[in-house]
Amino acid sequence: MKLRFLGAAGEVTGSCLLVESDGVRFLVDCGMFQGGRDAAAKNRRAYAREIGPIDFVLLTHAHIDHCGLLPRFAWPRHGSGLPSIYCTKPTADLVPVMLADSAFVQSRSAARGRRGRASATETPLYTADDVRRLATRLHAVPYGVEFRPHPQVAVRLHNAGHIVGAASAEVRLADGGRRRTLVASGDLGEDSALLVRDRDPPPAADVLVVESTYGDRNHRSLQDTETELVEVLHEVLVERRGNVIVPAFALGRTQEFIVLLYRLAKAGRIRVPLVFVDSPLAQQAAEATFAHLDAVDEEAAEFHRAERARKLPFTLRYTESVEDSMFLNSIRSGAVVIAASGMCDAGRVRHHLRHNLPRRECAVLFTGFQAAGTLGRRIVDGARSVPLFGDQVAVNASVHTLGGLSAHAGQDSLMQWLRAAPRKPRKVLINHGEPLAAHTLSARLARELKWSATIAEPETEYEA
Ligand SMILES: [Zn+2]
Repeated sequence: MKLRFLGAAGEVTGSCLLVESDGVRFLVDCGMFQGGRDAAAKNRRAYAREIGPIDFVLLTHAHIDHCGLLPRFAWPRHGSGLPSIYCTKPTADLVPVMLADSAFVQSRSAARGRRGRASATETPLYTADDVRRLATRLHAVPYGVEFRPHPQVAVRLHNAGHIVGAASAEVRLADGGRRRTLVASGDLGEDSALLVRDRDPPPAADVLVVESTYGDRNHRSLQDTETELVEVLHEVLVERRGNVIVPAFALGRTQEFIVLLYRLAKAGRIRVPLVFVDSPLAQQAAEATFAHLDAVDEEAAEFHRAERARKLPFTLRYTESVEDSMFLNSIRSGAVVIAASGMCDAGRVRHHLRHNLPRRECAVLFTGFQAAGTLGRRIVDGARSVPLFGDQVAVNASVHTLGGLSAHAGQDSLMQWLRAAPRKPRKVLINHGEPLAAHTLSARLARELKWSATIAEPETEYEA
């Protein structure tokens, strides 16, 4: 079997693994590159690239860095047919929502480009119509049930515990006349994740591809994170009488943060008068998430029931229109406003930053990784002022980073998953991590499990 990493090798975005074995060719994921200056150019190149006929696609989850370039299959290209895309039901529900948002963001950016704005990209890679066409190719399969995307191939998806519907793929295929099993971890979650059920252990594999986003470090514990959040909310909302702005990814992180607020408010540890989610995409993501209560954690399901019964310990509002969103800017105190994007490079959060950053009594609370080159990173790094909508806006609000909320397993947790493998794989490939993270995980695998792992390089073909 031959493996080629078309993305997420030496970095954490652009997941796309091309597998070829005994004449069958398929992809595991087909994601966008995100963050960093060259992401747009890389996406354009990847989208236009000729990858030859594909028999089917296995999709691990609905984050855009795993599914964002799927619309390439909306049209038969270069003589290849339209492959079927297999994923779990929650993922099949979420993908059209995420891709439609991506198409919208691209069209807006292209319109800015026509008006001569520097922040713009060229023409969109795909449109809402392409997304609708692509959506007809999605096939939902349940966790743990074997299916055959091709006569020579049998697949089972396992819960990866990352976001709702996220899966690891177990692929049994013919390889030089023998039967071999390839396991691709997809993005793995922490066992303590608040939103989704705990992940499954890995199935037995001949060839194992494992992610390494946090291969070099562990997260702060959930208890420490809770203590930190309680302190920030008390200081800002009660003592300073300001607002807390929370930049967060629409899918996963926003829902997880709200469940955390619910848990703390229910225990009487915080008093939060008003929580606003200012992101139509986050609202759609929440609907798709809680439509699959069998996939969410018990406490998250309890939150959902309380919300439905209007028995939440705080007022939770989703804003839809731009007018609603603008109204939030007139609220002077007592509000927690959660808005995308998580790294502040786009989206409504920028309006909230413009209104709240200059105010000493307010705070910005980051809940996730801030990549180099993003506005979020500049704020975290202590910039005294930042450019927003053509103005320099002073940063007088306090800035906090919540360390323990991550949809990705930390190093110990990755090791725990790998250690649970029923047998030693013949070959282990590490992807989806920056070089230091991948190397650190590889060293620990060699030391503790005596596994020798290969760190995936972009565009290199691996014989496994
Ligand atoms: Zn992900």
